[in-house]
Order: sequence, then C-alpha cells, then structure tokens
Amino acid sequence: MTVLLSVEDAAVSYGAVEAVRGVALQVASGSVATIIGANGAGKTSLLSALGGLLPMRGRVIYDGHDITRLGTADRVAAGLALVTESRDLFGTMTVEDNLRLGAYTRTRAEAAQGIEEVFGRFPKLKERRTQLAGTLSGGERQMLATGRALMSRPSVLMLDEPSLGLAPLIVRDIFHIITELRNDGIGVLLVEQNARAALQTADHAYVMELGRFVMQGAAAEMMHDQRLVETYLGIS
Ligand code: ATP
Repeated sequence: MTVLLSVEDAAVSYGAVEAVRGVALQVASGSVATIIGANGAGKTSLLSALGGLLPMRGRVIYDGHDITRLGTADRVAAGLALVTESRDLFGTMTVEDNLRLGAYTRTRAEAAQGIEEVFGRFPKLKERRTQLAGTLSGGERQMLATGRALMSRPSVLMLDEPSLGLAPLIVRDIFHIITELRNDGIGVLLVEQNARAALQTADHAYVMELGRFVMQGAAAEMMHDQRLVETYLGIS
C-alpha cells in the first residue's frame, strides 16, 4: 500500500467560524480511511475543501504532488474524486447521461468502456440506464453518484455520508461496494455518521470533534474503545 493522499495542517473557515483546524490525515491505495463524528464536527467542510469546493489553508499532497492550489476539475483529472452528501445528480437526464458527464476527462471510447465497467459493478444502474436520475430511489441515486465519480478513474475516492437516508439493507450494499473498491486498489476516504458500519469497513479511523481530530487509530481497535463506543456507537 502506498500513501496517495496526504493532508497537513488543514483549516477551513466560514468568516470568523473555524470549521476545521489543524487536521492531518493520510489515505493509502487499497485501504479505507474513515472520518466519524457528530453533526457539525466539520467533516463535510473538510471533504469539500479536499475536493476543491471550498478554500482551505494547509497542504494537500496527492501522489507526491502539491495540489493545494488546484481547482476541482484538475483534482479530478489527477485522480481525486468526491461524491458529495447531496449526490448532485442531473435529475432530468438519464442514468447513462449522468455517467457520461463523469467522463469529461476521458475520450469517447474510454467513456463507453467506463460505462460498461460501472454497469458491471452496479447491475441495477444497467437495468435503469434510460431512466431519469430524478426518479431513482435513494440507494440507486447513491450508486449513480458513486458510479459517476468512478468514470474519472480515481485512485482516491472521497465519499460524504454515502449511507445518509438509506434503509439498512441498502446501507449494507453501499458498504459492500466500498469494500470492493478497496479490494480493487482504490483508496477510499469515507465520512460517516453511521460510525458502526464505518468502523467495520475501514482500516483506519479518525474521530472529529469541533473541527479537530481528537482520536485516530486502527478501525478494528477503535470498535473496542469504551469511550468511543459510548459516545458514537450508542452502547453503554
Ligand atoms: P453534518 O454531518 O451535519 O454535515 P459535519 O461534521 O459535516 O456535519 P460541517 O457541515 O462541515 O460539519 O459543519 C462544520 C461547522 O461549520 C458547523 O458549525 C457549521 O455550522 C459550520 N458551517 C458549515 N457550512 C457553513 C457555511 N456555509 N457558512 C457558515 N458556517 C458553516
């Protein structure tokens, strides 16, 4: 495993409000790193900044290159993709056209191949290839947003709350897909409020509180950390 994404001393502010302060993290190829924490901890702000959607201070090193000053499109072209919490699909376009939009960094032939790869990974999307994205279920929308991000062939995929609003069976499918992506060598940075599922899936975990990381370690060990379990997993 190689470290692909390395973040140093990251900070994000909204005016006088510091949403993220002094955060450092790493994501290696073929591994899942998760950031867990309560509402408002700063997880979405951090991921959005790493995706180039918000200004930030600090440094972002991707595959040995400093990409701190790159915009979103250049980050995607470099191999760093983000699926936002809102999933941002084009509701009046078909499933297939939404996927095609994710391939703007690639040739037409590569896009066609990419679509078949995504359909291989998400057979449900293939069944619904001509359906309008706005009519998909929540789980299908998450799959489409993830599939669209995969169209750019990222080596690091950042997912913001992929289980948000989904039924337990669908959540299980989503986490299964995350494990498959990891097994295919992709580095995944996963922001989740579903701490239990995130820790079960991840290799490494960071716990965020009030804009800072207050704890980090092997996800499997964190499952047995009494304070963490009581605070985030709702078991006493
Ligand atoms: P959630 O899971 O609820 O999305 P989060 O951990 O992702 O929470 P953020 O959404 O990053 O947290 O919010 C971190 C802090 O930044 C919060 O105090 C929030 O109120 C503040 N914040 C977020 N977006 C803005 C904004 N556009 N303007 C001002 N403050 C903001």
